[in-house]
Amino acid sequence: MTSISDINWAAGFLEGEGTFISILCGKKNNEGKRTSRSHRVCAGQNQLWPLLKLQRMFGGGVYKAYKESTDLFRVWYVHGSRARGIMMTLYSLLSPGRKLRVNKTLSQWNRRKLVCKRGHPFSKENTIIGKKPSGKYQRICRICRDRAGHEAYLRKKSLMVKGIEVAKKSVGRPRNILMMKDI
Ligand SMILES: [Zn+2]
Repeated sequence: MTSISDINWAAGFLEGEGTFISILCGKKNNEGKRTSRSHRVCAGQNQLWPLLKLQRMFGGGVYKAYKESTDLFRVWYVHGSRARGIMMTLYSLLSPGRKLRVNKTLSQWNRRKLVCKRGHPFSKENTIIGKKPSGKYQRICRICRDRAGHEAYLRKKSLMVKGIEVAKKSVGRPRNILMMKDI
């Protein structure tokens, strides 16, 4: 169980010594670039005590910064959802500058996916910014959207060949685009 005074201590320590960043991770694509994003909170110190305390509180690992190094410098690292949890827990205790940093880092979480669910890259040319009913913005893959539109057109055409009247609404926006909520 983590006490409030421990949380305050961690906020103070990480305010000075911590790093809150968004990192690239996941499989490498054909170009050797990583295709996903995660988060990291880390802190480096010559004293082991505060790092072990952070590890006890939040998990993660404490390592030598360089394998071969013989000095006392150690780094504590936490990644992924744990790192995001720490950022959100300590947020209200951090300075305005650090809050800005955390905001920036966490906002990149929504942009973590560098490819669409079918693996097309979210490049400048291939990305459409759409607005969801909730008011949030989402990225839509242009290749998928065009393909879905074409499939809807083919469906409509095949139904018309069979002599079935198609209501305009049912072939409006293809449904699978609205389901891309995970972007
Ligand atoms: Zn796509």
